[in-house]
Amino acid sequence: MSINIADVLASVPTGQFIGGAFVETGATLDVENPATGEVIATVSDASPEHGQAALDAACAAGPAWAATPARERAELLRRTFELVIERKDAFAALMTLEMGKPLTEAYGEVAYGAEFIRWFSEEACRIEGRWSVAPAGGNRLLTMKQPVGPVYAITPWNFPLAMGTRKIAPALAAGCTVVIKPAALTPLTMLYLMQTFKDAGLPNGVVNCIVTSSSGAVSAPIFADPRLRKLTFTGSTEVGVRLLESAAKSVLRTSMELGGNAPFVVLADADIDAAVAGAMVAKYRNNGEACTAANRFFVHTDVYDEFRDKLVAATEAIVVGPGLNEGTTLGPLIDADAVAKVSSLVDDAVATGGKVYTGGAAVEGAGYFFAPTVIADVTPEARVLNEEIFGPVAPLIRVDSDEEAIALANQTEFGLMAYVYSRDSARGITAVEQLESGMVGLNTGLVSNPAAPFGGVKMSGLGREGSHEGLDEYLEIKYVGIAT
Ligand code: NAP
Repeated sequence: MSINIADVLASVPTGQFIGGAFVETGATLDVENPATGEVIATVSDASPEHGQAALDAACAAGPAWAATPARERAELLRRTFELVIERKDAFAALMTLEMGKPLTEAYGEVAYGAEFIRWFSEEACRIEGRWSVAPAGGNRLLTMKQPVGPVYAITPWNFPLAMGTRKIAPALAAGCTVVIKPAALTPLTMLYLMQTFKDAGLPNGVVNCIVTSSSGAVSAPIFADPRLRKLTFTGSTEVGVRLLESAAKSVLRTSMELGGNAPFVVLADADIDAAVAGAMVAKYRNNGEACTAANRFFVHTDVYDEFRDKLVAATEAIVVGPGLNEGTTLGPLIDADAVAKVSSLVDDAVATGGKVYTGGAAVEGAGYFFAPTVIADVTPEARVLNEEIFGPVAPLIRVDSDEEAIALANQTEFGLMAYVYSRDSARGITAVEQLESGMVGLNTGLVSNPAAPFGGVKMSGLGREGSHEGLDEYLEIKYVGIAT
């Protein structure tokens, strides 16, 4: 398959998507390719007035969309799903260009991101209520589900398509209208998705998209507007906490998908080859920039040396390069700040006693590359154990028992994802039950699935995305007491 990059970039609208039209603002924002540091596109930059106009459009379209039969909402989603798949080459290329992930993984994200649209097109017709008789007799109890109302969706740069479809699709299925704001670093995929929704027949104003270099200033009036009924955010815990404070003022419904610090636990009886294969996915997928990325490896002392040596060998086989190059298995980090952060975490891990077995530094030359790195014998004081790395660095810690592994794994304010490897299912389930996280991979390094509830506990978030639960995030329950 050959992709004409110039054609792909030319097919992306550059304006704000407001009320069904792409609107130029007069101000502009450059988008870089992290593999080269070069500007690949220039799009319009929204001011607070554009944010307000987007919310106006979402509010104006709200009642008609909520009243649109579920089957029609479902069919619009289904047509959009089919168009995304038809345009998979362009979506994949755009994600690799603006975010850096290897092209094969970008195709994986197209399939994953599109699947949320298909899943929720199917769920749209399954919104049900309840009917019961009051326990004491007499009244009848009716519960119905209704759309929450206008939604503000804020998404990060690391999965430019899927983090958006995971919010837009259930919102539309539920009968809500949306204003979405992608990260300024990666707006192209979302703008192209807006074009795709438009081509599928999206009614004006049902989804609106604002791209801005001033996310705080543009978002503040949206939060302050009493017509907004829901915030759905995916991003860092630091920003998420601030947005929760803003949301509290109007008691907004919130769904928060925040940062992670996933433990990867290898018990003494684990299949080490399977554990290494899982670790490669859990650690290096998406250039190490996934909220579910394994951040700390707790390995039983009986299998520690074997796991370390096999992980180092597999890490050394990784092909680092621009994501569009054939054969690349690890692309660049998102920007220079990310390289500086990962470098400082590695330097600190080494200064506090860790030993680098492979990698350990940024790659010289153009782009924001960091060598895939394994650090063994990391000590408890290393910052890398407490902070989200968001890069291709695997810190290894030796443990003497299952209990020690679980206790250390839970020693974090985060609780998004955890991984456990054991050949003994009872032992594995015991660990699963004790791990404080919203999701666990048992003998697998990849669990994300649109049909499964994705989300975290502790400071990793509130609510779930995907699955049946993902639809409930956009529905209110109304109870009607009926006298008989
Ligand atoms: P981020 O810095 O928190 O930004 C996330 C989004 O929030 C971006 O669109 C950003 O826009 C916007 N934003 C920042 N400040 C804002 C403000 N004051 N008001 C309104 N919007 C604001 O996170 P990121 O660096 O893009 O993404 C990485 C983080 O996302 C990691 O912590 C990762 O774990 C987390 N993540 C979590 C999940 C999950 O499902 N739990 C999934 C993916 C990623 P600008 O960047 O344009 O300012």
